[in-house]
Amino acid sequence: MSAPYYHTIGKEVSVFEQTYKCKLPILLKGPTGTGKSRFIEYMAHELDTKLITISCHEETSSTDLIGRFIIKGAEAVWLDGPLTTAVKNGSILYLDEIAEARPDVIVAIHSLTDHRRELFIDKLGQTIKAHEDFMLVASFNPGYQRGFKELKPSTRQRFVAVSFAYPEPKIETQILVSETEVEPDIAKKLVNIATKIRNLTELGLTETVSTRLLVDAAKLIHSGLPKRLAVHVAVIEPLTDDLEVIQALKDLSDLMI
Ligand code: ADP
Repeated sequence: MSAPYYHTIGKEVSVFEQTYKCKLPILLKGPTGTGKSRFIEYMAHELDTKLITISCHEETSSTDLIGRFIIKGAEAVWLDGPLTTAVKNGSILYLDEIAEARPDVIVAIHSLTDHRRELFIDKLGQTIKAHEDFMLVASFNPGYQRGFKELKPSTRQRFVAVSFAYPEPKIETQILVSETEVEPDIAKKLVNIATKIRNLTELGLTETVSTRLLVDAAKLIHSGLPKRLAVHVAVIEPLTDDLEVIQALKDLSDLMI
């Protein structure tokens, strides 16, 4: 399989390589759509290791990660969850949006994030040592505005942490072109629109324009949707439901593309 496309932004690749070597857990911090998932796919490929991804949500519990007994015929059979599988076979386990998960998930990974590197499976009364290639990676959206769950300092301090932000315009333009084959001139305009909207902090948007939204807009344009319509449906509408803000953003972006 060829390597997933990932454009390096800073020192994240060497930080990750050394963290992997030192068998430490790592936290990827940053808003949604800034390339965290793509980065970890790329690193797993570079390090030639398996990757198991769990998208955490408010119902994600330690049982979902560790495993459970299921009834098969007249018997209860134990089924490893993804965390147990990764601990045993030495995969990278990526807990995407870890702060969304239930608190017992944090408790479950505790002994894996320090020198012990072991997992306690309470339902089996077993403690298993992590495979030497096992690595725990989590992502977290710090969300300076409302609506985001926090991660306790005592949890955060168990991880090496790397920040992800929107790439500088030149790099973001390159990403759009590589991802979608959209014309460079259009990619540049999309990035300009994003930069403008990102600077409009007074709009109080919970999340602003991510690289992901720009990639979507570029894909739609490349496939034939008119440019302004593509920006409207792929960039503006996903950001807000406030009709006045939508109109203001539309007026602004129509002038720029
Ligand atoms: P996150 O996990 O931070 O929410 P993703 O990794 O899913 O974000 O990124 C969203 C999309 O943005 C990716 O599918 C990719 O198209 C693009 N992208 C963002 N940053 C990069 C990057 N540095 N290199 C390549 N593609 C990127």
